[in-house]
Amino acid sequence: MAKVRLEDIKRRFNNVTAIEEISFEIPDGEFWVLVGPSGCGKSTILRTIAGLESATSGNLFIGDRLVNNIPARARDVAMVFQNYALYPHMTVAENIAFGLKMRKINPKIVQERVVDVARSLSLDHLLDRKPKQLSGGQQQRVALGRAIAREPQVFLLDEPLSNLDAQLRDDTRAELKQLHQQLGITTIYVTHDQVEAMTLADKIVVLSGGRIQQIGEPQGIYARPA
Ligand code: ADP
Ligand code: ADP
Repeated sequence: MAKVRLEDIKRRFNNVTAIEEISFEIPDGEFWVLVGPSGCGKSTILRTIAGLESATSGNLFIGDRLVNNIPARARDVAMVFQNYALYPHMTVAENIAFGLKMRKINPKIVQERVVDVARSLSLDHLLDRKPKQLSGGQQQRVALGRAIAREPQVFLLDEPLSNLDAQLRDDTRAELKQLHQQLGITTIYVTHDQVEAMTLADKIVVLSGGRIQQIGEPQGIYARPA
């Protein structure tokens, strides 16, 4: 895990300013949630931290390292999207192992890590199945497992539960919270869902029109005067 620091990040696409004056520092191990209406810049912030977009200006630090010019694969960041994008021809175990195999880690250690991750996500009985033999919730847990198996310093999630039905969303949300408590990876999570923001966040960043409106604890953001 590592702290994540954004200093005056701006991103323009041709004439459109997607985000500007984005500054915050997430302490080691905290869980922050980005909220705001569609188009307010949530995905652009995540993608910039992941290195899938580059900032037009500003500085981005992961830990003490300035990563502006560091490519995505060298940032030690894992990202999960709302459509889980598993490899359909691979088993659950192979999907979880994929990020580790890419890094040429010893096969025995890969095997142990896969078993650990599967256990913490209640996937241990499904390791030999293919994605199409799983429910949506199970598939998303595999996607989470694949992301955390390589023990990233920072975990980025872009509406990871929005394709699940209500019951599965509740279950998976609870698992995510547990996983974070267990692993303590610095996490940034995008959602439209107030319940998710309330239950998961240490801090909530409210965005509007590409700028930060407010940063605070969930009770401060959503509290209503009686
Ligand atoms: P959100 O995730 O909050 O829905 P986004 O970060 O996707 O918002 O988008 C923020 C703004 O930037 C929107 O106006 C969007 O249209 C624009 N934008 C995002 N990506 C691109 C792109 N690749 N090219 C042009 N405009 C973009
Ligand atoms: P979301 O709303 O979930 O952030 P979108 O469907 O808006 O996702 O965007 C999906 C992809 O399209 C992203 O890679 C984003 O950068 C790009 N994109 C978003 N808005 C624009 C735009 N106005 N012009 C070009 N690309 C865009």
